[in-house]
Amino acid sequence: MIAHSRLNAASSIRYDGLRSIDADLRPMGLFGLVESREVEVNKRKLESYRNLLEGRLAVLIDASTDTVESMAGERPPQHADPTDRASMETDRSFILRMRDRDRKLINKIEDALKRIEEGSFGTCIECGEIISEKRLKARPVTTLCIDCKEEAEIIESKQAG
Ligand SMILES: [Zn+2]
Repeated sequence: MIAHSRLNAASSIRYDGLRSIDADLRPMGLFGLVESREVEVNKRKLESYRNLLEGRLAVLIDASTDTVESMAGERPPQHADPTDRASMETDRSFILRMRDRDRKLINKIEDALKRIEEGSFGTCIECGEIISEKRLKARPVTTLCIDCKEEAEIIESKQAG
C-alpha cells in the first residue's frame, strides 16, 4: 500500500515534471527565436565596440612607444645651460604625466575588452543594470550606468570638499 502510493507519487511527479518541461518548451521556442535575433544584434554591437576599443588601444600603445623612444633620446646633455635643462625637465614631467594618463586609459580599454570577452560588457558593475547605448557610445570604457556614475561623483565631490 505504502509502496504503491509512493510509486504513484513518483510517477505523478515525473508526469508533472514532463508536463512542465513541455509547457516551458513552447514559449521558450518562441522567445528563443526573438532572443537569437537580439543576440545577433548584440554580437554585432559588441563587435563594433571591440573594433573601436582595439583601435584606440593601438593608437595609445603607439603613442606611448613613441614617448618612451623620444624620452630616451632627449636626455638633457651635460653642457646644456640650466634654463634649457629646467625646461627639458618640465617637458619630461609633462610627458610622464601624459604617459600616466595613457597608461590608465590603456588599462581601462583592456578591462573593457575583457568584459566583452566575458559577456559582462555594457552592464553596470554597481547595480547590474544595462548601461545605455548612448553612454556606451560616448564612453565605451565605462563600467557604471549614468545613475551610479552620478552617485559616485556626488560621493567624490563630498569627499573632496
Ligand atoms: Zn548602475
